[in-house]
Amino acid sequence: MSNFDALLSSVPTGLWIDGGQSDAAGGGEFDVHDPATGDVLASVADATEPDAVRALDSACRVQREWAATAPRQRAEILRAAWQLVTDRAEDFALLMTLEMGKALPESRGEVAYGAEFLRWFSEEAPRIQGRYTTAPSGNGRILVTKAPVGPCLAITPWNFPLAMGTRKIGPALAAGCTMIVKPAEATPLTMLLLAQVFTEAGLPDGVLSVLPTSSPAEVSGPLMSDPRLRKVTFTGSTAVGRKLIEQSASQVLRVSMELGGNAPFIVFDDADVDAAVDGAMAAKMRNGGEACTAANRLIVANSVREEFTSKLTERIAAMRVGPGYEEGTQIGPLITQKQRSSVAELVEEAVASGARVRTGGAPVDGPGWFYQPTVLDDVPVESRIVAEEIFGPVAAITGFDTEDEAIAAANATEFGLAAYIYTQSLDRSLRVADALESGMVGVNRGVISDPAAPFGGVKQSGLGSEGGTEGIEEYLETKYIALES
Ligand code: NAD
Repeated sequence: MSNFDALLSSVPTGLWIDGGQSDAAGGGEFDVHDPATGDVLASVADATEPDAVRALDSACRVQREWAATAPRQRAEILRAAWQLVTDRAEDFALLMTLEMGKALPESRGEVAYGAEFLRWFSEEAPRIQGRYTTAPSGNGRILVTKAPVGPCLAITPWNFPLAMGTRKIGPALAAGCTMIVKPAEATPLTMLLLAQVFTEAGLPDGVLSVLPTSSPAEVSGPLMSDPRLRKVTFTGSTAVGRKLIEQSASQVLRVSMELGGNAPFIVFDDADVDAAVDGAMAAKMRNGGEACTAANRLIVANSVREEFTSKLTERIAAMRVGPGYEEGTQIGPLITQKQRSSVAELVEEAVASGARVRTGGAPVDGPGWFYQPTVLDDVPVESRIVAEEIFGPVAAITGFDTEDEAIAAANATEFGLAAYIYTQSLDRSLRVADALESGMVGVNRGVISDPAAPFGGVKQSGLGSEGGTEGIEEYLETKYIALES
């Protein structure tokens, strides 16, 4: 038995409800594929409405008790889960590479990052704060307390199969909420393994359920129309996020939305160009470009554009493409054939409207959903590739002359998640960071995510923050108690 088979045979493939596995009520299953070969890795249980109701029944049964569990105890369970994920880092990393495709070193990075949300929020659980003051009139006291919002539904994407889950599970459990996770259809295995690890860490049955499904709306719909559910937290595309916001109105659910991005990466004429190239490699090529924070538009001062573009092209052309589990791979396959076609169409349209291909520019022949690491220069600003999320290993470069022009170009999008700026001027860094319409700005760095910092977008990139001291607030209600005394 290969180490792949040994790992896959140890991962749960049933629905995870009440601390254990079970078949779906309808008995259905769906396949999970390796995007590097198209081969089937596993068949997992396919949840439908009765399973969703069973998971919510189970969450509601234990919600009150979990909320009343001492914060220190909730913290200890989260800490134990962090330890177990860390101890099994290689299993989690290989599993993510198998079902999602990213290069193994990147999966290892995600395990460390994703697990850290469990440790960070274990430290936040005992620090949930209230407030006590005398009313300004002197008539009575104002007591403000925090309470868990109640049972939550988390819907996660495939691009970071572990971290997009732990970023929600960590704060929810720390706050005293129960949670049902609906992972993406392409990558349910990582979340099922995490659920098993939580049970091993001592999490009481019912507090966390995982419902893989091939028909997401059939599971989320009944949950969101059930008055017992109190919150939906979603990471995924803006189109699906809009639908969920609409659906959340019927029960007036709390919502957290981490949606699409279209990050500008601005290189000013006073930047350290080599540092900017390093940053662009990380901001553009991390996760094969399949990241909501990915640099979607490289906006480069015309005076340094050729130097930047030729150095970046040299680095990108040298990247090794292959299955993520092969030694030396830097860029794995895209998640599906559909995703690869979407990247190919964006590139073809940009080239037809005048963009110049500096390297790459086509799918890779053979099995799997590989696309050549690509650099496009002189990309017309009206191209679709400038307006839409690429979600692939394609760097699209445009030029500018003045700072105002760069800021206007960066803000010319409905999205507002991440932005990056490269300059050696502190004044300019702060002035431009203030002017950018985005929830996060990286200054002279290409990676900004940190479990200790609030991650979130503005405009159509979302609502709310994950991580930092802000993250737990998304799972807490504020209660005011008026004291006559
Ligand atoms: P997606 O919106 O297609 O799917 C995300 C999740 O929603 C999946 O679990 C899917 O099964 C589920 N879903 C799809 N349709 C649904 C419906 N009608 N009702 C309920 N659930 C439904 O997105 P994706 O392709 O999996 O992920 C890529 C997107 O996620 C990109 O737009 C990316 O920018 C975004 N993303 C955002 C962040 C962030 O933090 N802002 C992080 C990672 C990814």
